[in-house]
Amino acid sequence: MKTTARVVIIGGGVVGCSVLYHLTKKGWSDVMLLERDQLTSGSTWHAAGGFHTLNGDPNVAMLQSYTVSLYEELERISGQSCGLHKSPGIMLADTPERMEFLKMTVARGRYLGMETEIISIKEALNYFPFIEEKYFLGALLDPNEGHLDPSGTTYAYAKAARLGGATIEVQTKVESLEQKPDGTWRVSTNKGVVECEHVVNAGGLWAREVGRMVGIELPVLAMEHMYLVTDDIPEVEAFNKSAGKEIGHVIDFGAESYLRQEGKGMVLGVYEQAGKPWSTKTTPWSFGQELLQPDLDRIAPSLEIAFKHFPTLEHAGIKRVINGPFTFAPDGNPLVGPVQGRTNFWSACGVMAGFSQGGGVGLALSNWMVDGDPGFDIWGMDVARYGDWATRTYTNAKVRENYSRRFRIRFPNEELPAGRPLQTTPLYDTFIEQGAVMGDSWGMETPLWFAPKGTQAKDIVSFHRSNDFEPIKAECKAVREAVGVTEVANFAKYEITGPGAEAWLQGLMTNTLPKTGRLQLCPMLNHQGKIIGDFTIAKAEEDRFMMWGSSQAQVYHMRWFEQTLPKDGSVRITPYGMKLIGLSIAGPKSREVLQRLTDEDVSNEAFKFMDYREMEIATVQAKINRVTYTGDLGYEIWVAPEYQRRLYESIMAAGADVGIQNFGMRALLCLRLEKNFGTWFREFRPIYGPFEAGLDRFVKLDKHEYIGKAAAIKEKQEGPKKTRIFMVVDALDCDVMGDEPIWVDGKVVGWVTSGGFGHYVNQSLAQGYIPTECFKPDMKLEIEILGERRAAHLQMDPPFDPEAKRMRM
Ligand SMILES: Cc1cc2nc3c(=O)[nH]c(=O)nc-3n(C[C@H](O)[C@H](O)[C@H](O)COP(=O)(O)OP(=O)(O)OC[C@H]3O[C@@H](n4cnc5c(N)ncnc54)[C@H](O)[C@@H]3O)c2cc1C
Repeated sequence: MKTTARVVIIGGGVVGCSVLYHLTKKGWSDVMLLERDQLTSGSTWHAAGGFHTLNGDPNVAMLQSYTVSLYEELERISGQSCGLHKSPGIMLADTPERMEFLKMTVARGRYLGMETEIISIKEALNYFPFIEEKYFLGALLDPNEGHLDPSGTTYAYAKAARLGGATIEVQTKVESLEQKPDGTWRVSTNKGVVECEHVVNAGGLWAREVGRMVGIELPVLAMEHMYLVTDDIPEVEAFNKSAGKEIGHVIDFGAESYLRQEGKGMVLGVYEQAGKPWSTKTTPWSFGQELLQPDLDRIAPSLEIAFKHFPTLEHAGIKRVINGPFTFAPDGNPLVGPVQGRTNFWSACGVMAGFSQGGGVGLALSNWMVDGDPGFDIWGMDVARYGDWATRTYTNAKVRENYSRRFRIRFPNEELPAGRPLQTTPLYDTFIEQGAVMGDSWGMETPLWFAPKGTQAKDIVSFHRSNDFEPIKAECKAVREAVGVTEVANFAKYEITGPGAEAWLQGLMTNTLPKTGRLQLCPMLNHQGKIIGDFTIAKAEEDRFMMWGSSQAQVYHMRWFEQTLPKDGSVRITPYGMKLIGLSIAGPKSREVLQRLTDEDVSNEAFKFMDYREMEIATVQAKINRVTYTGDLGYEIWVAPEYQRRLYESIMAAGADVGIQNFGMRALLCLRLEKNFGTWFREFRPIYGPFEAGLDRFVKLDKHEYIGKAAAIKEKQEGPKKTRIFMVVDALDCDVMGDEPIWVDGKVVGWVTSGGFGHYVNQSLAQGYIPTECFKPDMKLEIEILGERRAAHLQMDPPFDPEAKRMRM
């Protein structure tokens, strides 16, 4: 066995083999895969082998589409058959909500170039003849689906990788991992030691165990999964003969089942409600190519519905029942990328659909390792989307919930309950008592809206405007006309100190840093000149800065900061997490409220827009930013958690006679929309350049050096390829929520990034991107909402306070 390699991949399932192949394709041939047993010995060998492109996250869908398109190339290069059966797939809707969901899915697929369409149940019979028509309303047809041979496909990746110079060692178990002081790795196996630069964890069912070798607990858990293979069914053969094709793939939401042809019979798999986790703490190393005991009782409720929906199947004999485990992350998407806090330790695990996603995971990870960037927007799969709050038992609750919802709709206003409440602020109970409907924001409970007394504090989930509409309107009115208070704890907050702090920060940010006592909005770019961060930075004093960013991106950003920090210890960055939490007061009366709580002068002259102060308020030591995300006069006030309650009660008492009201996250998002403010992960993402995103004011090209500057200059010189636009939409009772296609002059050219109802301006609003070449002031804009094209109108100025006087008043 070789004793050195540039990369060691742990795990020879479909994912590890795909990463191996993609690395060789990128030109890295000194790569080695270690497999403790034989290739496919984890979850791969007993997969049902189905593949499809649809995914709730459009960026993940694109990588699935790449995976599906790869198989023919793989067969050609390797000479190994993947056992491909390409056949169209249909998703069946048995309720009006599921029909709306399918229409939304088709619309979302349009700008990704997906060829899905809505068809009638009569037409669906051409693909799947066993449907009992009376139960269904319509279907979605996806021509790009099929199934394959899991083992053949894994070996095809492996063969293609070997042809590219890769080495594969089977019967080689990685027993421990040790990082040496120079950052390289010592991989100890039952056959000896391999020294390498990079380690990839593609351990599948054992991904947690491999993670534990480097002291991390990955949020993955295996679930048992069952599918049946029926005996031959005469009707299957009859269909094949008369139609001249295989029976298509089917997803039946009602029965929580998927079906496809296998030989002359059918495969029927179920994502049941009472799903069962497997190996909740540790996965036994002795587990090999074996199956679990089937438990038909567990899937009986779903089977009953499936047999009602497809009566031909009820009488088919069952040839075998497969019950095997495979892994899931809490949201069901893979965990890919460099692991924060470990150098050159990469994750390629939690891949629940290896034959839809494995190619995309291999492509993204190999780009990342070789070029320093995944080359796509893969936030939906990034291992950095979870923090250490995603513990083993939290993961257990969420994975079970996710499994049971695999074929359920998630409505735009639907919050999922499992594992909650997890993190709460001291005001949690106070907010609940006041009617707060809470949402989960990166593991933290956050008030979304407040139900008026006598009404139910609960979302009625829907694609349409719902029971939160009027309460949010009232919250927005209170902010715009008097003063509102909201909790803003769910931000990431960092303190940066040390003699090198200013130079380091300046080298990351496109904007010049603020002077002492001031704030500045600072985008951050990667080397390719794409937006990877959007921060508010305060200079507290010489060599000390405070910085606020997206809470969801805290691990993502810390990973970047750790990579760029000077090695000489001249800069220290401390993420505050929950040690600093905030309340924001916003609205024309907010200064009056603040002044009542302090003997410091907070007049407009003494405490200006974009000023930063550290001072006492309501007897509490606070850090205060004079800025709000609502676009009003306002303040963000940050205190240690033990003082938050005192601060809140003081604010409420001081504001009582000027009409102070609570407002939640949903009102905040509506208010920022009326100002056309962008938000991280929607308008600002690593697929957009700063000029595309309209951040021109915050990007200095002639002042200082920073990462991504050369690419930003290029973008400016060549002109942005995309343009961020703001629209007023002729919506009916359903506003845009994000990812809908934008039609310009009758063609789909762009997509919505976010939208909703602007309650104070009384308009339905949307933000999105279109290609710059399509941008014309008189273009005819439409947005497809739930299958219906609604006219939209370009809005150049924000409808609320276009001259931005309110923030400065
Ligand atoms: C019943 C069933 C049906 C399924 N149907 C489908 C389907 O239709 N379509 C689809 O896309 N997916 C399906 N899946 C899921 C699919 O099987 C997984 O997505 C896929 O197998 C994940 O592959 P992997 O490479 O990540 O993990 P694994 O297949 O688990 O591979 C991990 C490998 O790592 C090795 N390993 C672990 N630790 C070490 C170590 N320390 N040293 C050396 N080697 C190590 C293991 O031996 C194993 O071979 C199904 C799964 C099941 C169980």
